[in-house]
Amino acid sequence: MKSLGVLLTCPMDSYLEEELSRRHSLFRLWQPPPEKRSEFLRENAGDIRAVVGNTSVGAHAEMIDALPALEIVASFSVGLDKVDLGKCREKGIRVTNTPDVLTDDVADLAIALSIATLRRICGADRYLRSGSWKNNGDFRLCSKVWNGFVSFSGKAVGIVGLGRIGSAIAERAEAFGCTVSYHSRTKRPQTNYKHYSNIIDLAANSEVLILSCSLTHQTRHIINRHVIDALGPEGVLINVGRGALVDEPEFVSALIENRLGGAGLDVFEHEPDVPEELVGLDNVVLLPHVGTDTWETSKAMSDLVLGNLKAHVQKKPLLTPVV
Ligand code: NAP
Repeated sequence: MKSLGVLLTCPMDSYLEEELSRRHSLFRLWQPPPEKRSEFLRENAGDIRAVVGNTSVGAHAEMIDALPALEIVASFSVGLDKVDLGKCREKGIRVTNTPDVLTDDVADLAIALSIATLRRICGADRYLRSGSWKNNGDFRLCSKVWNGFVSFSGKAVGIVGLGRIGSAIAERAEAFGCTVSYHSRTKRPQTNYKHYSNIIDLAANSEVLILSCSLTHQTRHIINRHVIDALGPEGVLINVGRGALVDEPEFVSALIENRLGGAGLDVFEHEPDVPEELVGLDNVVLLPHVGTDTWETSKAMSDLVLGNLKAHVQKKPLLTPVV
C-alpha cells in the first residue's frame, strides 16, 4: 500500500517525479487546466498529506488552507520564499528544504556569470555565430560597449549574504585574486573578509556585487536606487539569490541610463517574465533560473526531498527540518 498522498506543484526533476509516483500516491497539480485546479485540490484534499513545491510554485496560504490533511511541505529548493512559513508553524505543518547539496553549483554559476558579464562571453559567442567575425573583423574593434572588456581577476567583490552559497562564492573569488567583502546582519568572526553592516557602503567599495542572501520581508528590494548608485557606472551586479531582492524597474533604468555598468542574472522579480528592456541590452547576461540545474545537484536535491518524506512517514527525525 502506498504510504503518503503527495501533491507535486509543477514539473520538476523527472527522477523525483518517478520516485514519488513509485513510492507514494502522486497528485500532479499542473495536470488539470488552471481553472480546474481549485476543484482538483478540493476533490483530493482528504488524501494529500504532503506538498512538494519549488521556486516556481511552493505552498502559499490559500493552498495550505485548502489541504486540511497536510502534514509536511518538502521543498525542492533551499530558499523558502514561496512557502508560507508562518501558516505552516501555526498549523503544525513540518517544512524541509534542500540546503548544502546545491551550494557548489550555485556558487560556480555566480562566478560564471561574473566572468561572462565582464568578458562579454555571450555577446562574443553571438558575434561569431552571426558571421560578424568573418564579415566585420575583430569583436573587440566592433564593440560599442560601455567600457569594453574587463578582467574578473583581482576585482573587489562584495557579497550580500555570506551564508552557505555566499561563502562558497567567496572561496572561489579569492582563488581569482579578488578581495572579498560582505554584508549580512551577522558578522562572521571565522572569516577575514571585511564586513559592512551597511549595504550602501559595501556597494560603494565593490566592483562586482553578488547577491546570495535569502528573500524575506527584510531583504525584498534590498538593492534599491541608493545601492545601485553606490555601485556606480563601472559596477556590475550579479544575482543568484532571488529576483525580488532587486527593485527591478530601478535597476533597469540604471542600466539604460548607464548609471550601472552591467549585470549577470539567474533570477528575476516576476519569473518567467523578464523586462523587455533587458533583453535588448548588450551589457547583461540573462539566465532562466538554472542555478541548481545540473544532473548531480538535481539528483541530490531529489534524494533529500525523498529522504525527508521517508523520515516523516517513519516518524524519524527529518533530514533538513526548517519548521
Ligand atoms: P543561507 O546559508 O541561509 O544564507 C542566507 C544568507 O542571507 C545569510 O548569510 C544571511 O545572513 C543572509 N541574510 C538573511 N537576511 C538578511 C538581511 N536582512 N540582510 C542581509 N543579509 C541577510 O542560504 P544559502 O543556502 O546560502 O542560500 C541563499 C539563497 O540563495 C536562498 O535563500 C535562495 O534564495 C538562493 N538560491 C538561488 C538558487 C538559484 O538557482 N539561483 C539556488 C539556490 C539558492 P544573516 O542571517 O547574518 O543576515
